[in-house]
Amino acid sequence: MTSQPLIQIAPEAPTGLVPSRRAGMPPRHLADLDLPERQAAVAELGEPAFRARQISTHYFGRLVRDPARMTDLPAAARDRIATELLPHLLTPVREVACDGGATRKALWRLHDGSLVESVLMGYPDRVTVCISSQAGCGMACPFCATGQAGLTRNLSTAEIVDQAVHLAGVAASGAVVGSPPRLSHVVFMGMGEPLANYARVVAAVRRLTAPAPEGLGLSQRHITVSTVGLVPAMRRLADEGLSVTLALSLHAPDDELRDELVPVNQRWKVAEVLDAAWHYAERTGRRVSIEYAMIRDVNDQPWRADLLGRLLAGRLTHVNLIPLNPTPGSRWDASPKPVEREFVRRLRAAGVSTTVRDTRGREIDGACGQLAAAEVTG
Ligand code: SAH
Repeated sequence: MTSQPLIQIAPEAPTGLVPSRRAGMPPRHLADLDLPERQAAVAELGEPAFRARQISTHYFGRLVRDPARMTDLPAAARDRIATELLPHLLTPVREVACDGGATRKALWRLHDGSLVESVLMGYPDRVTVCISSQAGCGMACPFCATGQAGLTRNLSTAEIVDQAVHLAGVAASGAVVGSPPRLSHVVFMGMGEPLANYARVVAAVRRLTAPAPEGLGLSQRHITVSTVGLVPAMRRLADEGLSVTLALSLHAPDDELRDELVPVNQRWKVAEVLDAAWHYAERTGRRVSIEYAMIRDVNDQPWRADLLGRLLAGRLTHVNLIPLNPTPGSRWDASPKPVEREFVRRLRAAGVSTTVRDTRGREIDGACGQLAAAEVTG
C-alpha cells in the first residue's frame, strides 16, 4: 500500500471554563457546561444561582428545550437565559420513520448550515439513539457514506447532547411504538469520528450520564463510543474513569486490507490498535466491541475469520458483524448469508462471542454508514 493517509483532524479548542468559540462553532449552551459552570454563568447574568438548577431540571429532567415553556421563570430572566444559555442549536429539517415506527431518523441543520443526522431505535426492552459527533468525517473509510464527503467541523458538546435530549423527548411522547418511553442507550455511531473530537465527546458523555438535573442520568454502561482506532485517544479514554463501552471498527484482521478499508491503519496498525483495545478492557473491565462490516469477497474469506479468531481468542471482547450497507455508487456489496454464517461459525469455534447486527433503518438511509446528510439536502 503506497497511498497517503487522507485523514483530516480538526484542531481542538483550548480547554477552559467556558469553551472558546471557533469559526463555525455554535454559541455556548447550557449543555456545554457542568452544574458549577452553569451556576457561574447565571450569576454573570445577574440571576440567582438556583436558576441553574431550575433550567437544568427543565432541559435534562423534563426534556423541555424551548425556553418559552419554562413558565416558572420570570419573563425577563427567561429572555436573558434563553439568549445566553439556551440558544437554538438544532433545526429539524426532516424526520422520517420506518420499521413500523420503531426507527426514526432525524436530519438537523446547525447554525452554520451544516447538516447532521441522528437515529432513534426502539426495541421491546430499550430505546437507543445513534448520534453524530462531527459534521462529516475526516477518516475517509471508502465504504462509509459520511467518509466520502470529508470533515466539515467538530460538533460542540451541546450539539451532541441536544440530539439525544431532543430524541429522548420524542421517545417520552410515546412515539416509538412497542418500546419503553425512556431513552436508555446512546451510541456514538452517527456521523463523525468521536475520538477526533475528544474533549467535547467526553464532556457529552459526562452530561449524558450525570444524574438529573445536571445531566440525563443514563448509565455509563449504556453508552458506546465507536472509533476507527485512534490509538492515543483510546489510551486516554481508558484513563477517564468512565465505564462506557468502546467499539473498535476493525473491518479487517490484516494490515494490508485494513490500510485500505480504514485508512487510519496506515498510522496505527492492527496489532497496535488491538493492544490499545485490550488496555481499555483491562482498565475498565468492559468488554470491547469489535465492529466488522461484512463486504462480499473483500474481507469475508474463511481465512480472515480464522485470523480474526486467533487475534481475539481469550480476550474480553465481542464481535459485531455488520452486513455492509452499500453506499450509492459503491463497488462493494454485503456478503451472502451463507458466507456470513460460516464467518460467524469460525469465530465462535475460536471461542469468540459473535453476533450479527440488525439492519435497522435501511429503507430511510438511517442504517450504519448511510448517514450522509449532504445527499438529503435536495
Ligand atoms: N467513526 C466511528 C463511528 C462511525 S459509524 C467509527 O468508525 O467507528 C459506526 C460503524 O458503522 C463503524 O463501525 C463504521 O465502520 C460502520 N459503517 C460505516 N459505513 C458502513 C456501511 N456502509 N455498512 C456497514 N457499516 C458501516
